[in-house]
Amino acid sequence: FSSTELTRHLLGRIQQLDGSYNSFISITEEKALAQAKAADQRLADGDAPVLCGVPIAHKDIICTSGVRTSCASKMLDNFIPPYDATLVENLNTAGTVTLGKTNMDEFAMGSSNESSYYGPVKNPWDTGYVPGGSSGGSAAAVAALLVPGATATDTGGSIRQPAALTNTTGLKPTYGRVSRFGVVAYASSLDQAGPIARNAEDAAHLLSAMASHDPKDSTSLDHPHTDFTAGLDNSVAGLKIGVPKEYFGEGLNPETASRVQDALKELEKLGAQLVDISLPHTELAIPAYYVIAPAEASANLSRFDGVRYGHRCEDPSDLRDLYMRSRGEGFGEEVQRRILVGTYALSAGYYDAYYNKAQQARRLVKQDFVQAFDKVDVIMGPTTPSPAFKLGAKSANPIAMYLEDIYTIATNLAGLPGMSIPCGLVNNMPVGLQITGNYLDEARMLNIAHQYQ
Ligand code: GLN
Repeated sequence: FSSTELTRHLLGRIQQLDGSYNSFISITEEKALAQAKAADQRLADGDAPVLCGVPIAHKDIICTSGVRTSCASKMLDNFIPPYDATLVENLNTAGTVTLGKTNMDEFAMGSSNESSYYGPVKNPWDTGYVPGGSSGGSAAAVAALLVPGATATDTGGSIRQPAALTNTTGLKPTYGRVSRFGVVAYASSLDQAGPIARNAEDAAHLLSAMASHDPKDSTSLDHPHTDFTAGLDNSVAGLKIGVPKEYFGEGLNPETASRVQDALKELEKLGAQLVDISLPHTELAIPAYYVIAPAEASANLSRFDGVRYGHRCEDPSDLRDLYMRSRGEGFGEEVQRRILVGTYALSAGYYDAYYNKAQQARRLVKQDFVQAFDKVDVIMGPTTPSPAFKLGAKSANPIAMYLEDIYTIATNLAGLPGMSIPCGLVNNMPVGLQITGNYLDEARMLNIAHQYQ
């Protein structure tokens, strides 16, 4: 079948089913059909890249030329970027077809997708449950077979946690692997974009197309282009898998633990060797993150002032009124909370007590990993402490919500690549197995994931 037929089919499925999931904010039918037509032409001409004609969707924090990019916020409800993010440009060059923009937590702040201005996303496994966040729309769209793959971003777990909760495969690359140019900044030293797909092979294809060295992003790594599918069929025999004791302690649902242990045994049967390790500063990760991420967010979000971008209040009486009301009306509760926390942590007199301390803790967390990777090739454990929770269950309790990312956040603080792959069900809800790799070692993580799957 042609890309046009596939695109029409999936647009039809979105039309028919997404009312129940709310995984899309915008559907770009016309643009998609034009891209599909061009892809079909390239396919007919021969020599088309492997992703040519494949329909995908982009998280609505990633700029798409001429297509609204809202960050799921009232603030950017009217924002139409005049350019594509580099990663979108790369995927367009690879011939992918964009079906639309996916729902998310507002400005990527959240773990349940309940903070979106456009309403929560529902987990396709059970629509009474959250799909995780903040990339819940991308994960739900892939899980509901509305798209074979989608882009997403991960600052503290936002690719891996929703992948875990929806039985999809999500990969956060090494910091700097994928350009952040055109990805609306949440916490710049932690943000990374990556794919959510149905399996490791599809994720490998998407990552191969997304990753590039980009002079427009000063933190982009200057690495040669990599084909992440090349090593998928390698044997995992002899690989050393580190199993950190801190990831199996208090707070972990016993049934989730048992699915993860079963997966590790499975990998042992394939010849991998399990090694007990310790990441002693794990408990510092959440407190450090919830100082550093809000601090960076408070700076990044200061550009939304009602003047240059986004929502502007009616009839401001003066400049101060314009700023205060535009921001008060445009940002939701969680975003305002983060801006307040971040501004406080950076303010004179508190900087050393909070921000500097958090940076010191970050270094200790990173050193744990550096030491562990002297002994092992990858690190594995659960992605989340438990399967998906019910809509509304944690939305009134920010601390409970923050604890969702207890196993994922350290990876971002260290800048390492991380992945979540499906590893079974608990009460019919998905469980994720997390793979953390050494710097630039995505190919090995994908290889292990592919062999396990
Ligand atoms: N849940 C975390 C937060 O709210 C992580 C979000 C993310 O990775 N974008 O900040």
